[in-house]
Amino acid sequence: MKVVKFGGSSLANGPQLEKVLNIMLADTDRKVLVVSAPGKRFKEDIKVTDLLKTYAQLTIVGEDTTDIQTQILQRYRDIVTYFELEENEILSSLSDQLAQLSRVHYPSFDYLYAAFMGHGEYLNAQLVAYVLRELGHPAQFVSPHDLGLTVSGSPMAARVNEDSYDRIAIFNLPSEGLIVVPGFLAYTTDGLMATFSRGGSDITGAILARGFHADMYENFTDVSAIYAVDPHIIKSPAAIETMTYREMRELAYAGFAVFHDEAIIPVIEADIPINVKNTNEPDAPGTMIVPVDQVSNPAKVTGIASDDRFAALYLHRYLLNKEVGFTLRILQILARHGVSYEHMPSGIDDMTIIFDKTQLTQPIQDAICAEIQAEIAPDHLEWIDDFAIIMVVGEGMQNRVGAFSEIATPLSEAGITLPMINQGASQISLMLGVKASQVNDAVRVIYDAVF
Ligand code: ASP
Repeated sequence: MKVVKFGGSSLANGPQLEKVLNIMLADTDRKVLVVSAPGKRFKEDIKVTDLLKTYAQLTIVGEDTTDIQTQILQRYRDIVTYFELEENEILSSLSDQLAQLSRVHYPSFDYLYAAFMGHGEYLNAQLVAYVLRELGHPAQFVSPHDLGLTVSGSPMAARVNEDSYDRIAIFNLPSEGLIVVPGFLAYTTDGLMATFSRGGSDITGAILARGFHADMYENFTDVSAIYAVDPHIIKSPAAIETMTYREMRELAYAGFAVFHDEAIIPVIEADIPINVKNTNEPDAPGTMIVPVDQVSNPAKVTGIASDDRFAALYLHRYLLNKEVGFTLRILQILARHGVSYEHMPSGIDDMTIIFDKTQLTQPIQDAICAEIQAEIAPDHLEWIDDFAIIMVVGEGMQNRVGAFSEIATPLSEAGITLPMINQGASQISLMLGVKASQVNDAVRVIYDAVF
């Protein structure tokens, strides 16, 4: 049995949905269909999820929402029209649910946003099940609530409750036809709608694959494979046929955007292979992501990822290595501001703390620096904004002599400096810090050296 998830671009309009239905119906093992909300039809288009966010904002400030509701409904109407179906029944139901959103009382703005934005998927799954039935195929809309998929934590970046898996496992799948489940959203134990973080339909698919003990989790998107490096940096890079879970984790962390980095965890726990495939080219093999024992001949380097969403704080103080509680005090300052750190390489007198910039604002950054200065009084403190991370990842890097010099030598020949190198924390990756302004050049040099 397979759980199959389709992303927003695969469901953006009628012709795309038709491809999705053909893929689902071509293989009777495909029993669970997880859908995203309709995504972009063209580059400047707006995803339904983002239209719903606007609808939420207008509701909060008490402005008229007629236009935005019409705009959202039109995306679903276009799909109904494409399949030449009777409009009234389904569209009036979707329209009522949409209007109802602004009449409910929510415990916080975060819950309000989650409920509005989750409806992109919630309405789409109902529509997709309806289209299937109208075309004569048995299909049932099943909400995460029916499956017992519950979540906790932040309403817009929720985490699955472990006991959900047991409830999903006992859900009776129909003997014929398929179920259509909205991705991205789930419910708290109090029955409030929450969502995973953005792109979170991947997570729903992974949770269901584990819960249903699927043989395979197929994840359909709009690329024919995961590439060894970002095609915006290297033209027509090598496609990855097979990679391991942990290679995917490390690459997803530093910018491999094909698959949500949290989504891999449920499938790892259940050893379910993931096949990333292209809705527009369904016969292409795509990329398989599997447990490490299923890879017989691991590649030296599987992929190179890079991301410039980082910043670094450099601290210098003599005898830092001998000072008890130094790191602890810095971490306490970060914790006071609710800031987590990504990496913290240190030497005898120096330490660099690397942050994900997306969680920082200028006032928080200033406050952290001021408090470190006041409480810790380092000899030198420097905030480095121009910072990017490159991950060179491959199972074959384990215990291999010379892996580093193969990369470092051409980089130094190209005049690219490496303010941070981290090898060893993970056996299968080499993490390099570079100036953000040099990151693309550095990736090209490394790609040429190792592929
Ligand atoms: N529709 C949601 C988003 O745009 C979730 C998803 O597509 O996976 O983030």
